[in-house]
Amino acid sequence: MSPLLANQSPRIFRAPWVIPVTSAVLSDGAVVLDQDSIIAVGQYDDIVARFSDLPVTKCSGVILPALVNAHIHLDLSIYGPVPQESAESSMCDWISSLLKKRMDSNYSIQEIRDAAEKIAVKQHESGVGLMLDTGNTDLGKFQSCSAEIISLFEMLGPSKLATEAAIKTITELPCHRMVTGHAPYSTTPELLKFIKKRSIEKDSIFSFHLLENLDESLLLIKGSGCFSNFLKSGALPVILFQFLELTRRAWWGTYRKQEFLIGTRSVSIAFI
Ligand SMILES: [Zn+2]
Repeated sequence: MSPLLANQSPRIFRAPWVIPVTSAVLSDGAVVLDQDSIIAVGQYDDIVARFSDLPVTKCSGVILPALVNAHIHLDLSIYGPVPQESAESSMCDWISSLLKKRMDSNYSIQEIRDAAEKIAVKQHESGVGLMLDTGNTDLGKFQSCSAEIISLFEMLGPSKLATEAAIKTITELPCHRMVTGHAPYSTTPELLKFIKKRSIEKDSIFSFHLLENLDESLLLIKGSGCFSNFLKSGALPVILFQFLELTRRAWWGTYRKQEFLIGTRSVSIAFI
């Protein structure tokens, strides 16, 4: 609910189009608002007959429920857009570009936070009322953004040692901090299971990257594609190591023992 609309006396909002979502789109529709609650939605004629004593605010365009952005990385806002280099470049190329940009920079937490807050405000201004934010930085609450933001602390752990380090980190987090895994190619089954179990116990959200694009699909379904090459080349753990600033030993130590999910077609979400 926008702070501009909350805490107002009951009123009718009329618009050329109202999208209730749970029923068909209404032309010349109306919404009745009382404080921070919607108490009626319908055709304007019906609504005004039922609530004839209420003032009417005419709106242009469309009234619809707030949008939900189910996947955003607010802590990456400061790096700006990272365009795909060419039509031929893969998801792995894009990840490399993003990580390079991140590693070449030296922004303070405050700068990262300020950029994130600006993007959150922009999201809200464009109609987003709820965001699921995934990241590696604790951004805290944004005073200037009244959208609801649910934050997940994202963990990676592609080896046994890295998994142990990640689990130690998680157990030291405050109880209320929600945690999630990054992706099947960067997080061992043990770590994913640990995080999933924690999510169930705390009744919190679990969300991770899976089959977002053709390259991830190729890895999981056929054990091939750029992610497979990326993992076999050893480039990924090195980049992730720098990215997360974990110890080289933790990341590199058991990587060579092929503890990854790479090429294991039996991998599935069922085990978590
Ligand atoms: Zn993502």
